[in-house]
Amino acid sequence: MAAGLDKETLDATLAALRDYAGRRLPDQKLLELDARDEFPEDIVREMFGPQLGIQLFLVPEEYHGMGGGAFDLYRICEEMARIDLGVATGVLATFLGSDPIRVGGTPEQKTRWMTRIADEGALMAYGATEPAAGSDLGALRSTATRVEQDGAIVGYKINGAKQWISNGGVADVYTILANAPGGPTWFVVDRGTPGLSAGKPEDKHGIRASNTAALSLDDVYVEADRVVGLVEGQGLVQAQAVFGYTRLMVAAFGLGAGWAALDRAIPYSTTRIQAGAPLSEKAGYTHKLIVPHVARLEAARAYMEYVAERLDGGEHQLTTEGAIAKYLATEAGNWAADASIQALGGYGYTKEYMVEKIKRDARITTIYEGTSEIMEMTISRDRWQQHMKTRGQHYHDEARQLEALAARHPRVGADVAALALHALAEVLERARVARLTRHQHILLRLGELVAYAECAGALARRAVMAADGALNAKADTRFAPPALAALSRVFAREAALKLASDGVRWICGAGGVLDAEVASFMEALGVPAIQRAQTGLLADMDHVADVIYGRAAESGRAAA
Ligand SMILES: Cc1cc2nc3c(=O)[nH]c(=O)nc-3n(C[C@H](O)[C@H](O)[C@H](O)COP(=O)(O)OP(=O)(O)OC[C@H]3O[C@@H](n4cnc5c(N)ncnc54)[C@H](O)[C@@H]3O)c2cc1C
Repeated sequence: MAAGLDKETLDATLAALRDYAGRRLPDQKLLELDARDEFPEDIVREMFGPQLGIQLFLVPEEYHGMGGGAFDLYRICEEMARIDLGVATGVLATFLGSDPIRVGGTPEQKTRWMTRIADEGALMAYGATEPAAGSDLGALRSTATRVEQDGAIVGYKINGAKQWISNGGVADVYTILANAPGGPTWFVVDRGTPGLSAGKPEDKHGIRASNTAALSLDDVYVEADRVVGLVEGQGLVQAQAVFGYTRLMVAAFGLGAGWAALDRAIPYSTTRIQAGAPLSEKAGYTHKLIVPHVARLEAARAYMEYVAERLDGGEHQLTTEGAIAKYLATEAGNWAADASIQALGGYGYTKEYMVEKIKRDARITTIYEGTSEIMEMTISRDRWQQHMKTRGQHYHDEARQLEALAARHPRVGADVAALALHALAEVLERARVARLTRHQHILLRLGELVAYAECAGALARRAVMAADGALNAKADTRFAPPALAALSRVFAREAALKLASDGVRWICGAGGVLDAEVASFMEALGVPAIQRAQTGLLADMDHVADVIYGRAAESGRAAA
C-alpha cells in the first residue's frame, strides 16, 4: 500500500464523513436501525457512491482508488466507528473481502476486482469462518474439488458452510476460503452463482446495523481463474499477510467506539448535578469513569500510530504489532463504553442516550478479526521468541532507550514505562527458567503484559514527539503535549503496576519462585521502584480531568 493521502485530503475526508453522518445517520436513525435489526444497505452503497466514495481511499491508485495508507486507514476507521460500528463493519467487510486479492492476486485479478470496488462500489464479503473453524482456521472443512478437462484444471466445485460472514447476505462478490487439493485457497465467487446461498441475518447483541449471515456452498462452480494468485494452497499465508492492516482497522474501531461513548459521558457529566455540583467536578467520578479510560485509549492510539507509520514505511505483515494494537484498543474501547453507561447512571442503561448501543456494538471488536485470547497468544508467542533470541535482553534494551529519552524529557512517563519494560524482561526470564509457558494460561497472561508494557513505551514516545513538534502531520491532535505527557504518566504507572502485581501473581502462582525467593524476585522486578513511581498519580489525573473538562489553562486540543 502507498504511503497515503496528504493531510488536506485526509482532513477533508474526515470532515466529509462527519458531515455525511450528521445528515444521513442522526442518532434517531441509528437507534431505529438498531431496534429493527436492519442493515442500511442504501446508506452503505451511498457511501460507496460518487458523493462520498469512501472505498476510493482504501483502493490503490493503479486500480482507480486514491491509495490511502495505513495511517489514513486508521483515521478513517476511527471516524467511521465514532459514527456507527455496524455501518463501519459493512464498509470494513469489503476491505477484508478484497484483501486476499490485494495481497495475493495476480495483476489481472487485482485490476479486475479492485477496479470493480473503486468504479462500481461493489460490496464484498470475506468468507473464512466456519461453524467448526473459528479461531483455528486450520480446521477448515469447506472443500474445492478440481474440475478437469483433457488433463487441465478448468474450474472448481466448492462445497461447505461459512458462519458469521459480514455482508454475507448483501455482497456483490465473495472471497471464500476452501481446502483445494493443494491446501487452503481463496476463491472469488460472484453473488448469484448457482449453489451459493445466504442464511437469514443473525439476530445479534450489537452492530445490528451490519448484515451478518451464514453462507451455504453447494457445488458452487467457479472457473480456474477465480483462484486468488492462481496457485492452490496460499490461502492461510494470504490471510496472515494482511493481519497488520486488518487488525489496525479493528483497533481503530475499538478506539472510535470507546471515544464515541466517552464523548457522550463527558458532556453529560457537566450538566448532571448531584449533591449540589456537576458530576464532572467529582474526582470519585471522573478518576474512575473517565480519566483511566482516556489514558488507555490514548496509549492504544500511540501504538496504532507507531504501527501505521511502520506499515506506511514499507514494512510488511507486522502481525504481532497489529495484534498488540487490536488487543489494547478493543479492550480499552469496550471498557470505556461500559464505563460510559455507568457514567450516565440510569439514563445510560436506556436506549435513548446511545451509550447502551455503543457498548453493545463495541463488544464485537474483541471477538472478530481474532479474539482477544488469540491476540494474547499471538503476541506472547512472538515476543517469547524475541526474548529467547536476545537472551533476555530485548526488553531491557527497550527500557534503556526509554531511560535515555527520560534523561532529555523527564516528565513524559518514559522513566516509568522503562520500569514496566524492565519488569517484563524479568517476568519473561523467570518464566523461561521455570519453564512456565507450558501452562497455556501463563503464556496468554504474558501476552497481556507485553501489550501493556509496549503501549506504555509507545505513549511516552508519542508524548516526546508531540513535545518536539515531531508528530506525524496526520496524527490526531486532541491533546496538547502537556496533557499527553500527563496521560502517559498515568498509563505508564498503570502498566508498571500491572507488571509488578500480575508478574508476581502469575510467576508465583505457577510455582516459578520458591517461597524463600519471593522477596528477591520482587526486588528484581523493581517492585519498590514501581510503587514509588505511583507518587503524583492523583495530581496527574486531576490535570487530565481539568484538560478534558476545559478547566486547565492549556487547551485540550493541540495547535494545528
Ligand atoms: C458479528 C460478526 C461478524 C463477523 N464477520 C466475519 C467475516 O466477515 N468473515 C469471517 O470470516 N468471519 C467473521 N466473523 C467470525 C469471527 O472472526 C469469529 O467469530 C472469531 O474469529 C472467533 O471464532 P469463533 O466464533 O468460532 O469462536 P471460537 O474460536 O470457538 O472461540 C470461542 C472462545 O474460545 C477462545 N479460544 C479459541 N481458541 C482458543 C485457544 N486455542 N486457547 C484459548 N482460548 C481459545 C476464544 O478466544 C473465544 O473466547 C464474524 C463474527 C461475528 C460475531
